[in-house]
Amino acid sequence: MSEFDKEVRPLVAGNWKMFGLKAALEQALQVRDTVSAEGFSANTDVMICPPATLVMVLGELSGGSRLLVGGQDCHAAASGAHTGDVSAEMLKDAGAAAVIVGHSERRADHGELDRDVQTKAVAAHRAGLTAIICIGETAGQRAADLTLEVVRRQLEGSVPDGATAANTIIAYEPVWAIGTGLTPTPDDVEAVHGAIRVALVQRFGEDGAGMRILYGGSVKPGNAHELMSIANVNGALVGGASLKADDFLGIIGAYSS
Ligand code: PEP
Repeated sequence: MSEFDKEVRPLVAGNWKMFGLKAALEQALQVRDTVSAEGFSANTDVMICPPATLVMVLGELSGGSRLLVGGQDCHAAASGAHTGDVSAEMLKDAGAAAVIVGHSERRADHGELDRDVQTKAVAAHRAGLTAIICIGETAGQRAADLTLEVVRRQLEGSVPDGATAANTIIAYEPVWAIGTGLTPTPDDVEAVHGAIRVALVQRFGEDGAGMRILYGGSVKPGNAHELMSIANVNGALVGGASLKADDFLGIIGAYSS
């Protein structure tokens, strides 16, 4: 375990998934106003990835503040006959700074494979967005002691060659920890994040050393400080606890303590 890695600026990103009508913007605005107050976890980036319907309005409401806005997925093409899809260029145009790609729910619900995720990450880069690329093992893979093998394979297949520390963030999210209240032990998180760092440095050199690696999976105000203190954990991707401003701020506040 180490204290916060001061070399890499942390990011706490909230993934609202398919939750949030207009009324939910109140929570986002509370986050915006609190983090914009001087001194509040000042060395940490803060992002909310609302449903696509709210990206533009939140982008406008958070303009000029510390709150960044992201999308939750994008199509690989810039435009075209793809009913229901949203392109990276559209997200950028709406005010997004980043887009999540390869979330385990996309991989499971939509059959997305590593090569699809890689193509989406390339699309994000093309549009000028940071790609937040999700990887992580299932419970079965962990039980079979395949965690590191799976994570290395997903990294290799999902992260494009053009990835840099500025345009790419890795989110390690054990599938079995998402929305379950379960988390790996700090030693397990340290081992996986360490292996991810080694693989990134081998492939991308300096950029791999500076690329942010977020932990995601049942991060709450009560466990955030412990998880965020682990070596090579450069922030969090937060699902359920990002929907309520108080909980999300409690997690961001881990970087103040
Ligand atoms: C997620 O879906 O990315 C996630 C981490 O969810 P939760 O925090 O609810 O486990």
